Amino acid sequence: MPLRVESDIFVVRQRGREVAAALGLEHQDQIRIATALSEMGRQLLAGAGGAEVTFAAATEAGQRLLCIELSSTTPVARDRFTPGGPAAVARLVDSLEISTAGPVTVVRMSRRLPPNAGPLTREGLAAIRAELAASAPTGPLDELAVQNQQLMAALEEVRSQRDELAVLNEELAETNRGVLALYGQLSEELEETNRGVVALYAELDEKSVQLRAASEAKSRFLANVSHELRAPVTAIIGLCRLLGDSASDPLTGEQAQQVGLVRSSAEDLLRLVNELLDLAKAEAGRIQPNWTEVDLRVVFGQLRGTLRALANRPGVELVVEEPPQPATIRTDEVLLAQILRNLLHNGLKFTERGDVRMRAQRRDGSWHLSVADTGAGIPPQLQERIFEEFYQLPGPARTAGTGLGLPYARRLVNLLGGALTLTSTPGEGSVFTVTLPVEPPAGAERAETCATEGGA
Ligand code: ADP
Repeated sequence: MPLRVESDIFVVRQRGREVAAALGLEHQDQIRIATALSEMGRQLLAGAGGAEVTFAAATEAGQRLLCIELSSTTPVARDRFTPGGPAAVARLVDSLEISTAGPVTVVRMSRRLPPNAGPLTREGLAAIRAELAASAPTGPLDELAVQNQQLMAALEEVRSQRDELAVLNEELAETNRGVLALYGQLSEELEETNRGVVALYAELDEKSVQLRAASEAKSRFLANVSHELRAPVTAIIGLCRLLGDSASDPLTGEQAQQVGLVRSSAEDLLRLVNELLDLAKAEAGRIQPNWTEVDLRVVFGQLRGTLRALANRPGVELVVEEPPQPATIRTDEVLLAQILRNLLHNGLKFTERGDVRMRAQRRDGSWHLSVADTGAGIPPQLQERIFEEFYQLPGPARTAGTGLGLPYARRLVNLLGGALTLTSTPGEGSVFTVTLPVEPPAGAERAETCATEGGA
């Protein structure tokens, strides 16, 4: 299309809109194209006295475009364009380039076609061309009227957007007020909760002080009572022994049996009293380990000898394996023997058939001394409970003990800087493991001494 006189601008503008519509651009885009065209056309007309306008449909990098080229008939200096003009126009299209080739200045603009626009076939384009050729361009006045309508529509849209914006702003302000109120409420609640937590902690501290005092009182009470009980119970046992002695007056069969009953009950009582006293002493921190270099082979050998007499149940074997060399550990020999004897004793007591096996393994700087049996085992939910004072599993062997052996053993193992653990499968057996450091951690010996002194 030629652009020679002022009125051509209206025609170019109108054609631009029609081409954009024919290629499927939506209404807003049609106005953008028309406005960009009339603006650039106006500037070229003023700066170069005219131009040729070409519309083309193209595909670039898989993208379909409407390309518009305005080439001036005479050169035009860049500063002849209205300042800010091309920049403002560039916002209306996707790309805008101005180039000068020889005496000709070319303005190229393009706009992406929407994906739903029909395919750009040769026939389609020919049809569009024919349609445009057939329609006669209207006069400038009509185009002006169209432009006015578009302007009014644009104004209307701006107004409605402004109204929407005002509503949104109001909503935002409302939300902000809500958030502020919520924030205030939350901080108040947080403060309230904090006060509660602080009070709770104070109460907890107080309770733990009371608990410690109660635990100490209990240990003291147990120690005193068991100490006081030991003398009379020992006396009863002595008297029973005297009564049954061959040097005393002979007893009738009935009397001998009853004295025997009294003596065995008194011995049970003495065992309980002794165990209570041991536990109370351990809890009060009154047991001071005697740290020495201990040979585990010696300890195992002694236990093998002393417990052989207890392993008298047919079908149950006591196996004490030889510890691997070097079998040394720094610990308290007497306490360690006491712990292992207790575990072996339990193993023999609660195993009907199979074996009770003690073995020592050295791993990662620790000794793992385990006592495994093939007894009834302990259900998982009771595996911690049996370490509580006086707790015994229901069963026939119950009467044979006090329920104090394991808590005492665990206490002693802790005192030696180790841990006593249990794994057990009901019906298969149990494994009690004493894990002790080969060397007690630095300061353990001194710490124990201080604790003992403090406790005493
Ligand atoms: P006691 O043996 O004097 O009853 P313990 O504290 O040594 O007290 O053990 C507590 C309870 O744990 C025992 O009564 C028994 O029910 C259970 N128990 C301990 N050792 C074993 C074991 N090796 N196998 C099965 N049960 C065990």
